[in-house]
Amino acid sequence: MHSFKKVLDLQHFLNRRRREGHRIGFVPTMGALHEGHLSLIRQSKLENECTVCSIFVNPTQFNEASDLEKYPRTSAADIKLLTSIGTDVVFMPGPDEIYPPDLDTIVNVDFSHLDQQMEGVFRPGHFEGVAQVVKRLLDIVQAQRLYMGQKDFQQLSIIRYMIKILDLPTQLVACPIIREADGLAMSSRNRRLSPQMRAIGPKIHQSLLWAKETLDKYRPAQISQKAMELLSEAGFRPEYFDIVDGIHLNKIEQFEDSDYVVACLAAWAGEVRLIDNMILKQGAKAGLSRTNRL
Ligand code: AMP
Repeated sequence: MHSFKKVLDLQHFLNRRRREGHRIGFVPTMGALHEGHLSLIRQSKLENECTVCSIFVNPTQFNEASDLEKYPRTSAADIKLLTSIGTDVVFMPGPDEIYPPDLDTIVNVDFSHLDQQMEGVFRPGHFEGVAQVVKRLLDIVQAQRLYMGQKDFQQLSIIRYMIKILDLPTQLVACPIIREADGLAMSSRNRRLSPQMRAIGPKIHQSLLWAKETLDKYRPAQISQKAMELLSEAGFRPEYFDIVDGIHLNKIEQFEDSDYVVACLAAWAGEVRLIDNMILKQGAKAGLSRTNRL
């Protein structure tokens, strides 16, 4: 595996690969890698001659300094994992490479309310930071395809929108959520869970399954409220459990209002904030391709 820390060195290498006709697939991460990340890399390897994984804990997307500080950093183990699955390139830049003082990297896109709900309410400024780092990384890597996980459903919607509005020459490929055997969605943050919180972790997935099973019986608002109660009773501090249209991300009043419905939640498990989601309904009518939605 080739490893780069400097933008110019990476670009020099990728330019050579492009001249050989190789397509570049790109998987941006913040490290502390797990099977969820690896699934994106495997998908990219199937579809491109060269797969680049970046590891960069992006300071601009953390709205709390303590969260940034506590974010797990496991670079030696990450490199081993990436090597074991045949990743072509790992890019591990420092903050000065991504945000050089003389470069304006702010993304001036109006996200048309996609960034105003759910995570946007509880993590102000988060998506500005996400858009900024993804745009900067895409400018550097110039990938044909960008692989991101449904695990971060709202992030996926925002990046899809940014690519469309800025007319970026990159195809977004959305990949399904990888879960532990007991249903807990894999996350770098899971390693910070206390044994007690890890034990109740599967209840998050169960609340989403319950929502899917009961959508014929109740209205979305009733399901949201009941799911919040279930999560509280289980020992979490839920922030939201929203049932939204999968394209516009606005809450729906009735299931008939949309043919693409997703439940998204955030809940604190002790000191660790977890997010998860599930597609509750996905009709054929919306007619979007795999790269537009899952
Ligand atoms: P992160 O390192 O948390 O920024 O995640 C990097 C990429 O991996 C994002 O596109 C995430 O959506 C994706 N990802 C994280 N966890 C999972 C998972 N459990 N299943 C699938 N993709 C994931």
